[in-house]
Amino acid sequence: MTDLAAVPTDDSATALLDEARALDAADPLRAHLDAFVEAPGVRAYLDGNSLGRPLREMPEKLADFVRHDWGTRLIRSWDEQWMALPMELGDRIGRVALGAAAGQTVVADSTSVLIYKLMRAAAAADPTRTELVMEQGNFPTDRFLTEGIATEAGLTVRWIEPDPVLGVQVADVAAVLSERTALVSLSHIDYRSGALADMRAITEAGHAVGALVMWDLCHSAGVVPMQLDDWGVDMAVGCTYKYLNGGPGSPAFAYLNRRHHGALRQPIQGWWSAADIFAMGPEYVPAGDIRQLLSGTPPVTSMLAMQGMLDLIEQSTIDAVRQKSVSLTDLAVRAYDTELAPLGVRLLSPRDAGLRGGHVTIGHPDFRDVTRRLWADGVIPDFRFPDGIRLGLSPLSTSHIETVVGVLAVRDALRA
Ligand SMILES: *Cc1c(COP(=O)(O)O)cnc(C)c1O
Repeated sequence: MTDLAAVPTDDSATALLDEARALDAADPLRAHLDAFVEAPGVRAYLDGNSLGRPLREMPEKLADFVRHDWGTRLIRSWDEQWMALPMELGDRIGRVALGAAAGQTVVADSTSVLIYKLMRAAAAADPTRTELVMEQGNFPTDRFLTEGIATEAGLTVRWIEPDPVLGVQVADVAAVLSERTALVSLSHIDYRSGALADMRAITEAGHAVGALVMWDLCHSAGVVPMQLDDWGVDMAVGCTYKYLNGGPGSPAFAYLNRRHHGALRQPIQGWWSAADIFAMGPEYVPAGDIRQLLSGTPPVTSMLAMQGMLDLIEQSTIDAVRQKSVSLTDLAVRAYDTELAPLGVRLLSPRDAGLRGGHVTIGHPDFRDVTRRLWADGVIPDFRFPDGIRLGLSPLSTSHIETVVGVLAVRDALRA
C-alpha cells in the first residue's frame, strides 16, 4: 500500500499521519482496501471520482466471460442472461445506491445519451411548458444538451447562477420556476465544488409548479445515499465508471419513476425499446415498462466490472460508505487547514460535511504545474480549469493515510 518512506516527517505531518493511522485502524470498511488491483508506483490515488479502480477479481472474471459466457454458450447467452442484464443491473443499482424500487432503472448508452433521451422526452411532455431550467456551472455535457434540446424543441433555457462553493439552493431554483417550466435539471453533487444539492426540497419546489425534475447522479451514485422513490424524483441519470468502478466507458444508468411509464416517450426508439423485440413487425409499438428507455444492443462486456463493486457496496451498505466518505473528506479539510491554507491555497468545497459529497476541491494559481509534478511522483488527483485540484476520495478503495499523503504531497510540491 502507501509507501511511507517517501513521506515528510515534520511535526504537523507526523500528527496528521498518526491521526490517519488511527482512523484507518478503526475503519469498519478497511478490509475492502485489498479488494482493488495494486497500482505499482502510485502512492495516493485521489481520482476515484473520475475513474474508479478495478477490483482484483477482474482479470479472472473477464477471462471466464470470454471462455464460458461468450466462448462456450455463444449466442445462447443472450437468452440465458444478457437480454435481461440492462434491467437486472438497473434494479441492483436502484436497490443498492438510489433508493429506487425494481422496474424503474436501466443500464445503457452513456450519461450524455441518456440525458438527451430523458430531457427530450420531458421537453415534449406538455406543449404549454416552454422553459428548461439549467445551472450555469453544471457539467458541460448537461449544459450543451440543454441548449441543443432547447433549439430543437423551440424552448427557452432559464439559467441559474448559484454560489460556486455552496452550489444550487432551493431559493435559486424557486426564483426561475413558473407554470412555463417544463423541466428542472441539476446535478446532485457539483462536479467542481462537491456541493450536495437538497434533492428532496428542490424536487418538491419543481413539482409545486407542475414541472418535471431530473437529477444527474454522476458524482453521487455509490457514495451518497438518496431516496429517489420517496422524494418523488421524476427521472435521473448517472455514470457507472466513477464511484461504481465500471471501468472506462462503462454504460450509464437511467431512472424513470413508474408513474411516467407509458406516458413519456424517449426519442431514440430503436428495436430494444419496442414492446416485442423479436416481433420484427412493420410498425413501432413502445414497451410499456422501463425497457422503453433502451435503444440498441447493450454493451455486455462493459457491464461486467460494476457488478463486483455493487456487491461490495451492498455488503458494506451505502450508509457505511457515506460515513467513511465523510471521515475521509473531513480529514482532508483538516489537513488542508494546517498544511495548505498557510500557503495561500483556497478551499473551494463546503466546510460542512453535510453539504458536501465525496470530493474536496482546493485552488491555487500554481496547481496546473503542481498536478503535473504530482502525477510524475505517483500522487494522482485531478486538475480542474482554471486552478483547482480535486481530491476524489472513493471510500472503499481509499485509506485515510493515502488522503494525508496526498495533501502533504500537494504542500511539498507547492513549497518546492
Ligand atoms: C462524468 C459526468 C458526465 C459524463 O458523461 P458521459 O456521457 O459519461 O461522458 C456527465 N455529467 C456529469 C455531472 C459528470 O460528472
